[in-house]
Amino acid sequence: MKCKVSNTKFKPFMSLGKMPMANGFLRKKDFKKEFFYKLEVGFCKTNYLFQINDHPKSPKIFNNTYPFFTSQSKYMTRHFEEYFYWLKKNKYVNKNSNCIEIGSNDGTFLRNFKKNKINCIGFEPAKNVAKHKNNNGLNVVSDFFSYRNVSKIKKIKSKVDLICAANVICHIPDLNDLIKAIDFSLSDNGHFIFEEPYLGSMFEKVSYDQIYDAHIYMFSAHSVQKIFRDKGFILIDAIPQVTHGGSMRYVLARAKNKIKKNLTKIIKLEKKRKLHKLESCLRFKKDCIKSKNKFIKKIIYLKKKGLKICGYAASAKSTTVLNYCNIDNNYIDYIADSTNEKIGRYTPGTHIPVVSISYFRKNLPDVAILCSWNHKKEIISKEVNFKKKGGVWISHVKKI
Ligand code: SAM
Repeated sequence: MKCKVSNTKFKPFMSLGKMPMANGFLRKKDFKKEFFYKLEVGFCKTNYLFQINDHPKSPKIFNNTYPFFTSQSKYMTRHFEEYFYWLKKNKYVNKNSNCIEIGSNDGTFLRNFKKNKINCIGFEPAKNVAKHKNNNGLNVVSDFFSYRNVSKIKKIKSKVDLICAANVICHIPDLNDLIKAIDFSLSDNGHFIFEEPYLGSMFEKVSYDQIYDAHIYMFSAHSVQKIFRDKGFILIDAIPQVTHGGSMRYVLARAKNKIKKNLTKIIKLEKKRKLHKLESCLRFKKDCIKSKNKFIKKIIYLKKKGLKICGYAASAKSTTVLNYCNIDNNYIDYIADSTNEKIGRYTPGTHIPVVSISYFRKNLPDVAILCSWNHKKEIISKEVNFKKKGGVWISHVKKI
């Protein structure tokens, strides 16, 4: 395979097998024509970059039926309020700033800018999401953030003080084009700040379900520093976040800026953990195989005991777990979810029926797999009755 940034060639170090689209929830009539690709993972030593090989093209994923809405999580809504106040406190934004959010989704983050009367344009390609009622009154370009699209908006050339993003940069296949678009829009003293699930947290938790079609990359401070440095930007800070099972917020600026002490610490820590070496990836691969075998054994054991097992939250992540572990509707009765785009359909590849949360509450299972383990606190506090009635939560992930 080839590095998507530098074209360096290397061999994939791991395969998760044949995978369907992570969010390809389907109808029964479409089972036969379901799309699959080979999910392989490699590590580019030049850019310290963990990445997947083959993957479906972005418009196939972020189309007009994209089933993810940030505002469905109260926790994430609060997180984005705090993210905004952190930007203000650290003077990355003020009332005169011009801002852009990449991957603004249903406007959960953008709304904070609007409330504070700060100019912010959101880029959101998924048409159904851009049209969501929460986006009413917000400034949203319903398209991909790319050099082609951004350079059409002449008035923003070198005028943007802050470009921010969360959980989207890993979706963008052409990082060189992304940096070109940032370079076009960002002012001389501007900042590009983004947060993403962190490679170190994925390794620690063995949360291999972070790997799927839309997650093309898993970043570390090493990889972000290298990729941007080559294009005239400097990583000045990195701040760990607890969101999505462990993320990192990266702060970038044009090359003349100084780096913060905190970043030096993080880089040192990454070196100690060998996150800049293939060695840590190979250890992760072994951990994944162990985790897979343990989880399959557990599910088979519970099923043999005659217990009813279901899944909670039909997340994109769960597509990787269920397909990698080969757990289908012979083991799992249903997966409960709150997204209309998924309810009434079947899970990608494993064809488990997706039902509503109210169905779950009326038909409580004995065991529920926490498919969105990264929202554990929020889910468990919403479903106290399940535990009260003797229900047990399980997960394939360590240390949640
Ligand atoms: N930022 C929100 C959050 O953290 O909850 C949404 C994250 S969601 C996982 C990723 C969003 O990015 C989707 O709404 C998707 O449509 C959008 N997206 C994907 N590729 C994009 C691109 N090239 N430019 C702008 N948005 C993109």
